[in-house]
Amino acid sequence: MTQPATREPDWDDFRDHLSTADQEGRRKWLYPRQPRGPFYRARTWLSWFLLAIMFAGPFIRINGNPLLLLNIVERQFVIFGQVFWPQDMLIFAVALLVFITGILVFTAAYGRLWCGWACPQTVLMEMVFRKIEYFIEGDAHRQRALARAPWNAEKALKKTVKHALFFGLSFIVGNTLLAYLIGTEALFKIITDNPRYHLEGLTFMVLFTLAFYGLFARFREQACTFICPYGRFQSTVLDENSIVVAYDYKRGEQRGHLRRDQPPEQRRAAGQGDCIDCHECVAVCPTGIDIRNGTQMECVHCTACIDACDHVMTRVGRPKGLIRYASLDGIERGEKLRLTPRLVGYSVILLALTGLMAFLLFTRSDVQTTLLRAQGALFQKMPDGHFSNLYTVKVLNKTSREIPIQLKLENIEGDLQVMGKDLVVPPRKLAETSVLIDLSPLVLKGGTTPLVVGVYSNGRRLETVKTAFIGPRDDR
Ligand code: SF4
Ligand code: SF4
Repeated sequence: MTQPATREPDWDDFRDHLSTADQEGRRKWLYPRQPRGPFYRARTWLSWFLLAIMFAGPFIRINGNPLLLLNIVERQFVIFGQVFWPQDMLIFAVALLVFITGILVFTAAYGRLWCGWACPQTVLMEMVFRKIEYFIEGDAHRQRALARAPWNAEKALKKTVKHALFFGLSFIVGNTLLAYLIGTEALFKIITDNPRYHLEGLTFMVLFTLAFYGLFARFREQACTFICPYGRFQSTVLDENSIVVAYDYKRGEQRGHLRRDQPPEQRRAAGQGDCIDCHECVAVCPTGIDIRNGTQMECVHCTACIDACDHVMTRVGRPKGLIRYASLDGIERGEKLRLTPRLVGYSVILLALTGLMAFLLFTRSDVQTTLLRAQGALFQKMPDGHFSNLYTVKVLNKTSREIPIQLKLENIEGDLQVMGKDLVVPPRKLAETSVLIDLSPLVLKGGTTPLVVGVYSNGRRLETVKTAFIGPRDDR
């Protein structure tokens, strides 16, 4: 018999439906309880640090350049103070490949550590917006009661204050993103100039604010479940050796409520495990799932369920770690988390990739020089018997400071003269001038003599460029 193309979802099977949708497909609003415990405290401290970097980032300058600028419209990219130009596409592509490989290896080894601890969505949602909500509306049960309560002055006041704060914060977050895209100078211009001249910028300001307000006030965990590509692709990278937030089913099952008159030995003898089916782990989950069902796409590895369950285990006098960071293989074998050769190997690869990326970023020259023979010009014979070639030199300054340039012949005796004024390249600009190279016939190597020219600034060699000197074929 052929299977029907569609079938009714099995509402008892967690894999068959979303935990945040009811049988009519309507969204079930989540009221996660505020987590408490060492993991939550550690995440809070880390979030202060990350938030400080996130908001200060556009103002941090390295060698006069912003920490990060991703100006797609004007094709200006600055990463860790290093300016990337369209000419740097190769290095940028390699860095991107290294970055993607790094993410794959990191996820295979450490699961969604990024999502739970450092992703801006999680940090802003759980550590800023959610905390404001707890402060104004109280913990989960109070929020639920407020939502059910009829509209009165108290409810209106709480909702107004909360959404006003959410909107104000979304404005700050939106402007921070804009500063990463167009730079702080351009952003301040939009804010301080006549609005008539910046309609485009102001439109983006409003759109970003509304988008972040919608994200943090309404859309919330659905961004991780439905939109984030990293969340989707991690399921293809994780395997039974990856470190994930996992429920130790070997220790926990058969779950069953705790009876006060039942000592632990009796409980074990009755075939019951350590899980007392209290649902505390579900109550704190910001994505509304039950981690006891196994690793799930919705789990952002926020560790809230670890804190909740550890607290329960302490209360009932059982060891912590029924939910913990572990590999599924480790749980199967009843092992604690340990440094496996695979984990060491992946970490070494990660370190090597990070090193390669740092090397690519920090060994780039401050300038990019091209030296080409002037079009249509042949060699010239000078009155002293020397020969000269005319070249066009173009120097691109990738930094935010003015760079004076001197050129020297590196592989041969001869005279190199920059025509006109001294060559000084303004910040982030291209300068072009003519150069005359004069060589004695004694150093020429046939009709074409290879030249290496050093590009110097204040005595420091920035790079070398190669070119050729054309002379008469019979002058050797
Ligand atoms: S918090 Fe721990 S004991 Fe309670 S239901 Fe979850 S896994 Fe079981
Ligand atoms: S299952 Fe646990 S770690 Fe995963 S999202 Fe829910 S609370 Fe966070």
